[in-house]
Amino acid sequence: MLIVHGATHGLHDPAAAMARAGQPPNFDAPGRVAVVLDALRTQGAHLLQSTGDAGLAPIARVHRADYLNFLQTAWERWPRERGAELAWPQFWPGSGSPAGGMPARCPDSVVGQFGWFAGDAIAPLMAGTWAAAYESAQVALSAQRAVAEGARSALALCRPPGHHAGSARMAGYCYLNNAAIAAQAFIDGGLRRVAVLDVDYHHGNGTQEIFYERADVIVCSVHADPAEDYPYFVGRADETGAGPGEGFNLNCPLPAGSDWAAWCEALEACCRRIDAYAPEALVVSLGVDTHRDDPSGSFKLESSHYVPMGRRLAGLGLPTLFVLEGGYALEVLGANVSNVLAGFEGRAS
Ligand SMILES: [Zn+2]
Repeated sequence: MLIVHGATHGLHDPAAAMARAGQPPNFDAPGRVAVVLDALRTQGAHLLQSTGDAGLAPIARVHRADYLNFLQTAWERWPRERGAELAWPQFWPGSGSPAGGMPARCPDSVVGQFGWFAGDAIAPLMAGTWAAAYESAQVALSAQRAVAEGARSALALCRPPGHHAGSARMAGYCYLNNAAIAAQAFIDGGLRRVAVLDVDYHHGNGTQEIFYERADVIVCSVHADPAEDYPYFVGRADETGAGPGEGFNLNCPLPAGSDWAAWCEALEACCRRIDAYAPEALVVSLGVDTHRDDPSGSFKLESSHYVPMGRRLAGLGLPTLFVLEGGYALEVLGANVSNVLAGFEGRAS
């Protein structure tokens, strides 16, 4: 399989910086990409390729201009006395919450703007955040292009991840929605129906928001019940799309501690829905934080389960773009990703 990766994502290292700032743990460490690359090199049968650069235009097809401007300029504008290494939001408009309700407006202050554009406090900004997020989107776009040009499949080794990022919102380690940008690129390339299948432990609330009112991109997801786990406010089974997108969003939330049998059943429901939709391409938001050892989740999947997962995805028979999302147990992350690819390609793991 073609594997696309980048070189500058390490400039964004919130795991180390958040620890030094005395903040709660952030698991998105640069070593995540390295361990996956190591595992794929060991496995062989893959073609590794550095990312290209398709520019800002395909990113702007998904994300709002004011948000992109904020992401590109915020670090330079950030008050130096507020700390030199990283920043996180402290103020939120509160509109939409039961305690809010007054009309809110985007302020001029970069400190206030951070809260305007941030869904939560776990997507901090650093000097290298924009460069890393931009590169991550380009990794997805380079891999997407290969599939659009005829490759059966490709894996985009994106970091930071993307599926919590909305059209104008950063959240949950995510800044640019790599999977959504790639799905949009398929549509802009002439496809009429694209499926996004999100298998990350956490619900892809950003992806859902971006395509919620559209019928040309169906979004299906297996994830931890948001009643119990991140992202908490979105991802229930009764969220099925709106307007022209009604019926084109499928959420399969599972209880904390779910095992392979329960997970597999939910995946089957997603695959049946995707079959019925008859898309022309598949984007898999590939989070492997469903593993039993993952520090960010509670599911009980074993490394061996990622082989039949990949096999089932191959059974959809679609040109398939894998986009890396979560997966934070460094000792098994590489094996889990390479097992998905082995299952998909019909090789022994
Ligand atoms: Zn996740």
